[in-house]
Amino acid sequence: MLIIGPPGSGKGTQAERLSRHLGISCVSTGEIFREQVRLGTALGREVMAHLDSGDLVPDSVTNELVRERLNREDLRNGFILDGYPRNSAQVSELEAILAVTGHRLDMALQLTVDDEELIRRMLMRAALTRRSDDTEDIMRHRLALYYQETHPITSLYLQSGILVNVDGSGTEDQVFERSVVALTK
Ligand code: ADP
Repeated sequence: MLIIGPPGSGKGTQAERLSRHLGISCVSTGEIFREQVRLGTALGREVMAHLDSGDLVPDSVTNELVRERLNREDLRNGFILDGYPRNSAQVSELEAILAVTGHRLDMALQLTVDDEELIRRMLMRAALTRRSDDTEDIMRHRLALYYQETHPITSLYLQSGILVNVDGSGTEDQVFERSVVALTK
């Protein structure tokens, strides 16, 4: 399954909780990139500037990473993808990857939260963590990019009948409970 939502919607948190709940692995492209930056790998050095400016990492880099991860043995029984696909080229790439691995998408869970609440949450996170992309200008840029590039792909999943909307407002526990209910739909 996929989790799609704007920055600050809590998709990383919910993806992790759902993966424990379902007993399947979670692949988060943002987490992988941040880890590579922390570790100072070649990939980390390549993506750092894109992360810091709130821009998307080039598709060629992201697609190759996802292709490699999704072919791993531990994902055979399914997985949650958090943060990918993020534009229509990545949607096509994912289709091609899944055609090879033999997986089928069961669900695209979309978390919705209004913009004011998103900015409020990201500012709170900025005060607590040291994510280099959590400054107000860059947050607004990530949000704009989300509406421009990522939000439009949800209509494709709506058409194919796998899109489920979950209200992402409220507490982590409330959103998790709503997400679990959504899984049964
Ligand atoms: P958020 O949704 O809060 O922006 P993520 O952890 O999902 O947080 O992503 C952080 C950053 O990682 C993005 O701003 C982007 O630079 C990069 N990134 C993550 N996923 C992708 C992707 N699928 N394609 C391109 N860049 C990505």
